[in-house]
Amino acid sequence: MARKDALVNLRAILVRRRDALRSALAGDLSLLKELRSESPGDVIDAAYDSAQDEISSQLAEVESRELANIENALERMKAGQYGQCEVCGGRIPMARLDALPYATMCIECQREVERSGTGAVPRRVGDEAGEESMSSELEL
Ligand SMILES: [Zn+2]
Repeated sequence: MARKDALVNLRAILVRRRDALRSALAGDLSLLKELRSESPGDVIDAAYDSAQDEISSQLAEVESRELANIENALERMKAGQYGQCEVCGGRIPMARLDALPYATMCIECQREVERSGTGAVPRRVGDEAGEESMSSELEL
């Protein structure tokens, strides 16, 4: 599959996850349940498993974090920066993006950052869920 097509697919997956997470955070787990039946064994499944009865604050935190990561990834796709390493500007291999759709660094830079400690971790764009993410929602 061409990288561009793969990215389009990945975006569709991320948009669905985002919507499911938003619903779940609003107390509706039906979308997560739906996703779960399609893709067993991922992060959302684990979240869903522990959310059968109620959404604990801890779970909400995990979901919020994933939601922020997804929104960050979608912003980067919109800006044409998705799949590009934030540190060295190199192309992040598709295999890595498949495994880790929110990756913002190539594996070499990721290792470098981990080795040098927390101080060098680049800022996460998705942390500010402001007006910008509202407007992108309309376009997606
Ligand atoms: Zn890099």
